[in-house]
Amino acid sequence: MSPTLAEKEPKTGLSIFESMEENEHEQIIVCSDPSSGLKAIIAIHNTILGPSLGGVRMWPYESEQAALKDVLRLSRGMTYKAALAGLNLGGGKAVIIGNPKKDKKEAIFRAFGRYVEGLAGRYITAEDVGMSLQDMEWIRMETKYVTGISVSLGGSGDPSPVTAMGVYMGMKATAKKVFGSDSLENRKISIQGAGNVSSHLARYLHKEGAKLYVTDIDEEKLDRLVRDTGAIAVDPDSIYDVDVDIFSPNALGGILNSDTIPRLKCAAVAGGANNQLDDESVHGPMLIERGILYTPDYVINAGGVINVSNELEGYNREYAHEQATRIYDTVTRILEYAETHNVPTYTASNTIAEMRLKQIGRIKSIYASRSHFTGRMGELVGRR
Ligand code: NAD
Repeated sequence: MSPTLAEKEPKTGLSIFESMEENEHEQIIVCSDPSSGLKAIIAIHNTILGPSLGGVRMWPYESEQAALKDVLRLSRGMTYKAALAGLNLGGGKAVIIGNPKKDKKEAIFRAFGRYVEGLAGRYITAEDVGMSLQDMEWIRMETKYVTGISVSLGGSGDPSPVTAMGVYMGMKATAKKVFGSDSLENRKISIQGAGNVSSHLARYLHKEGAKLYVTDIDEEKLDRLVRDTGAIAVDPDSIYDVDVDIFSPNALGGILNSDTIPRLKCAAVAGGANNQLDDESVHGPMLIERGILYTPDYVINAGGVINVSNELEGYNREYAHEQATRIYDTVTRILEYAETHNVPTYTASNTIAEMRLKQIGRIKSIYASRSHFTGRMGELVGRR
């Protein structure tokens, strides 16, 4: 799967400084603790809007270069995601090099936590691929700069209800653009996945009177969702062939590709899965040629980052939900911009993110802007 425009992959064969300059990364922290076996890289892409926030991923990278490349592209993607979500946060990400099935131990995560603590709030971490709640709790023993922790530890817990609210609102904005009305009553919508995000999403859609077609490889989850929403169950491989108004991918990345796009029978794609386009430069244009409007995934699924960012200001689920409803306006703006300037929707979203960064970031300082934070965030970053 190729990175998105926002995640733009660094070129290979560059020195560290050249890689950083290429996409204007602010800082790379290489963490090595031989006693625990920790090998990690933290990348801070941009702190114009606020401290950098992004998950930590544990992955058995085939080389240090591959780990560096991944952390550079993912941290850049977070800058764009936070900027478009209207958050006062920058983009960061961390990778721990190791096999999550074999190499996990308390000491590794505590050593990582100490590195995060040492950055004094310039990078705030969260759970990502390969990490568990237990790992995050070990990190939290060493640093307060952690989000997305369990409710019992004072965190916000499962972000998927807020993510689903954002996807629902983004889908309504997409419908308004395509069909002239944002009502989803009687609209035919296919949903890939019956997991956390999709089951909450399907309930919103069912409540509004949409006709749902759902698939999952997990039959138990699928049966439950069918029972709860009256959706029609579809085979995992047939979901692309269903004749619908909107297709909503909420399971895997890379599912908009050369095999699936020619099969789609929908007017729009609007779903929460990350990195839906297998290769943005090839499959973005392919969707346009087929006359299918694509609502960029990282815009419509920003409810997750909105949720954890709320934790920093004193978590309030109602407020997080309310913020996620604003994804409607963001999607509307992006689709309008794309039409007016005759550019793909994913180009429009990047341009709008860059405009916000430019407008807010009068000075590109290596220090995070701190004055607007209150509550836990105020304490974390230290008010000036
Ligand atoms: P989840 O694991 O709860 O649900 C994913 C579901 O997809 C599972 O039920 C799984 O069985 C199913 N699935 C896997 N392969 C499939 C296939 N080939 N066909 C049909 N179904 C398949 O995950 P989630 O938290 O609901 O997240 C879903 C997507 O949304 C992911 O891409 C995730 O990265 C993205 N996302 C999630 C959040 C969040 O708040 N959870 C936030 C932003 C983005």
